[in-house]
Amino acid sequence: RLQVQSLTRSFGGRAVVNAVSLEIAAGQVTCLLGPSGCGKSTTLRMIAGVEMPDSGRIVIDGQEVCGPARILPPEARGVGLMFQDFALFPHLTVAENVGFGLRGDRTERGRRIGELLEKVNLSGYGEKHPHQLSGGEQQRVALARALAPKPRVMLMDEPFSGLDNRLRDGIRDTTLELLKAEGTAVLLVTHEPDEAMRMADEIALMRGGHIVQSGSPYNIYTRPADRAAAAFFSDVN
Ligand code: ATP
Ligand code: MG
Repeated sequence: RLQVQSLTRSFGGRAVVNAVSLEIAAGQVTCLLGPSGCGKSTTLRMIAGVEMPDSGRIVIDGQEVCGPARILPPEARGVGLMFQDFALFPHLTVAENVGFGLRGDRTERGRRIGELLEKVNLSGYGEKHPHQLSGGEQQRVALARALAPKPRVMLMDEPFSGLDNRLRDGIRDTTLELLKAEGTAVLLVTHEPDEAMRMADEIALMRGGHIVQSGSPYNIYTRPADRAAAAFFSDVN
């Protein structure tokens, strides 16, 4: 479970993230939607721990990972990341990429890597190198790598946008099913209202650093808070 309370961050005197609060239960997906520059990535980066907030508090499974009391480094937060420009290590094999963040002995790690490759439909690809794979296959390796340490929270910043439509739907559905099954709280940034309507348990609409409305897709679709929210969904079918 992820709880974000009043997260704020300014650059050059301008609050690009302004008192953002969110709560995502285990196994639930929240989509963060909003125009370019509204502060989505900055919000995710602060939750991940690679950007410091000016104020606010982040709690994961009841443990404060960032706040007045303490600030945990990214690797101690139990947070997984998937970005659009995911980077696999080019000099490592697929199996080594997937196992990169894993602890435990060799046998145990090997078993987990095999299990993950099977989940993303890449059994038998372990010894290949990233440059021998298609874009979609590389993305599935990135997914397996992100799932490997069983993160309690997964932060996804347009992770599917580089893929063609048919491939994207399959990978996206598989990814979110896997995450839900593992009880991971998911925060997914997307530009696509369609995607949010399909995948989200809850949608948070962001504009100018603020969350302007949040609720179930049905609620936001049928009762948009303002014209801009309504316009956002006007082309969903
Ligand atoms: P997009 O949909 O285009 O990815 P976004 O909602 O993810 O946009 P952010 O990347 O969070 O937007 O950026 C929010 C604002 O903060 C932008 O105006 C951006 O220029 C500014 N910003 C982000 N990081 C920095 C930084 N390190 N220094 C100064 N300004 C920054
Ligand atoms: Mg962004």
